[in-house]
Amino acid sequence: MRRPIIGGNWKMNRGSPESAREMLQELIPLVKKVKKVDIVIAPPFTALQEASVVKVTNIKLGAQNMYFEEKGAYTGEISPIFLKALGIDYVILGHSERRNIFGESDELINKKIKKALEMGLIPIVCIGEHLEERKAGKTEIIIEKQINGTFADLNKKEIMKIVIAYEPIWAIGTGETATPEQAAEVHQFIRSLLNDKYDEKVAQSVRIQYGGSVKPHNALELFQKADIDGGLVGGASLEAESFAEIIKAVEKTI
Ligand code: PEP
Repeated sequence: MRRPIIGGNWKMNRGSPESAREMLQELIPLVKKVKKVDIVIAPPFTALQEASVVKVTNIKLGAQNMYFEEKGAYTGEISPIFLKALGIDYVILGHSERRNIFGESDELINKKIKKALEMGLIPIVCIGEHLEERKAGKTEIIIEKQINGTFADLNKKEIMKIVIAYEPIWAIGTGETATPEQAAEVHQFIRSLLNDKYDEKVAQSVRIQYGGSVKPHNALELFQKADIDGGLVGGASLEAESFAEIIKAVEKTI
């Protein structure tokens, strides 16, 4: 029922036009036959123009962040209008690196989500717990707090447009993946929260990706879990071959 979605978050890597072009020249033919999976790449802003060659392919373009205002004196920020002008469809919001390194709050992320939706961009919203929080048995408390904060005042129609990425912070860029059971448990919990906050239809419609050291060797067993609708991939999305293998892993589960 839910269409799987794989996102490649290039972070602050492959930011030059040449580097993006090189990667995409390899990726596009590798995945051109993939029909039943949404594929999104999110290069740095400086490579978005070059990466927009994907517009004529089955790959969609995403940004890694945006501001909630449309224009004005916000030095260093990027307006959703600029993203729309480049033909961008998705925007990653609330990544743990934005929350932890740049101090983004649930409240700020909520404003960005509302603006992205208003502008017709699809937000991929990241949530997830720190290792200490997991060890202290607080994962569900943290997830619930993030959902209540980041999704505050969103109606059913709006929430159903969002993609949620469950990304346990201890698994991001560390090579340590959540087990499929650990990931599935939190995905189920997120659906139960959506059911309580909205209804069963919303809970069953919203796509929830897993993120945190997804690699070609562990992708299939993660994606085989019923509540995991694909992945948000960092490191392994930087090389065409490994990203294509992950995309093909999700295709096998359909
Ligand atoms: C991410 O950046 O969202 C991510 C999950 O990174 P990695 O796959 O490298 O852990």
